Amino acid sequence: MVKPATRIEQIPPYLFARIDKKKAEVRQKGMDLVDFGIGDPDIPTPGNIIARMIKATQDPQNHRYPSYEGMLEFRQAAASWYKKRFNVDLDAATEVVTLIGSKEGIAHIPWAYAQEGDVVLVPSPGYPVYKIATMFAGATPYIMPLREENGFLPRYEDIPEEILKKAKILFINYPNNPTGACADDAFFEKTLELAKRYDILVCHDAAYSEIAYDGYRPKSILEFDREKKHCLEFHSLSKTYCMTGWRIGFAVGCADGIYNLGKLKTNIDSGAFQAIQYAGIEALTGSQASVAELNSKLEKRRDMVVEAFKTLGIDVRKPKATYYIWARVPKGYTSSDFCEKLIEETGIVVTPGSGFGDEGEGYFRISITIAEDKIAEAAKRLRSFRI
Ligand SMILES: *Cc1c(COP(=O)(O)O)cnc(C)c1O
Repeated sequence: MVKPATRIEQIPPYLFARIDKKKAEVRQKGMDLVDFGIGDPDIPTPGNIIARMIKATQDPQNHRYPSYEGMLEFRQAAASWYKKRFNVDLDAATEVVTLIGSKEGIAHIPWAYAQEGDVVLVPSPGYPVYKIATMFAGATPYIMPLREENGFLPRYEDIPEEILKKAKILFINYPNNPTGACADDAFFEKTLELAKRYDILVCHDAAYSEIAYDGYRPKSILEFDREKKHCLEFHSLSKTYCMTGWRIGFAVGCADGIYNLGKLKTNIDSGAFQAIQYAGIEALTGSQASVAELNSKLEKRRDMVVEAFKTLGIDVRKPKATYYIWARVPKGYTSSDFCEKLIEETGIVVTPGSGFGDEGEGYFRISITIAEDKIAEAAKRLRSFRI
């Protein structure tokens, strides 16, 4: 057998394997699972988007290779959505690039900017791609712990000077997966100061910018980086329009960053299927009623889930945004032990916090992407669960 490359061997073992095994065992015993583990909406893509896709698939023009950087029309739609939403002007030709889902861009950006000897600042707990993509590029991830007492924001003042000098990229993600935390203006301002001082490219993952509750409106980092010199922001249609399976997103921000990411991509992929880009245009420029409906549905579920888990006697707080509730496991348990016990005894699946990095130990994540009747069933089971 051929030995795989070190970069493959060094990928940490799949942390949810234990949970998957437990799930299979419980299912085999005939118990119905209530799965709060998946960050994928159970709600279908809005009809207007699907209709546009169907029409676009019938046009032979769309069966051919798309342009690498994305159709100008899609990038214009993204720019006009951005202007409406954040009041930031973007040049569609030079400050927007189409992505095959935002994960694709996030995974590729370290290849464009970091190499051996460089450092990439990575939050933990966090979306695992930041760290792994950094390692693939041969650069060194430096973990910024996100702690509850700091509102799950990284403390830049704790990062050693010699690390900051070597840092090329800073990954941040607000509203945050998995903690549900949101960033305030002061944090974005501090981030920008750091980027300017040490010449770091800030990569803000804004996958949940449109999933927010109680009237809260998350901000774009480009509202602070008015010169558009230091930041890229990664956006996704996945969570906003229930399009996780379609694979469409975009990055915006400093023209240099967009150019270099685009240059890398032309040598790897051949762009997003044009029919999907047309559907994306419809999503971004058509009626936004579905987004408001989605948020009010999720807000209701969030409240139900919080009530249900409170019966465990633990502190469960309502997040202002994202699909996720992040809570401490009861005293005396590790994340994995608690999650396994919960599955075994109730069939309720939640995600151990340690799966998002060592700093997630002691927490678990509940995803609110399941229907109300399932949540009610979970509430019933939780009432008779003994810690
Ligand atoms: C879902 C998610 C993404 C990726 O979204 P796609 O556009 O579907 O690739 C990126 N970042 C975070 C934090 C996410 O939760």
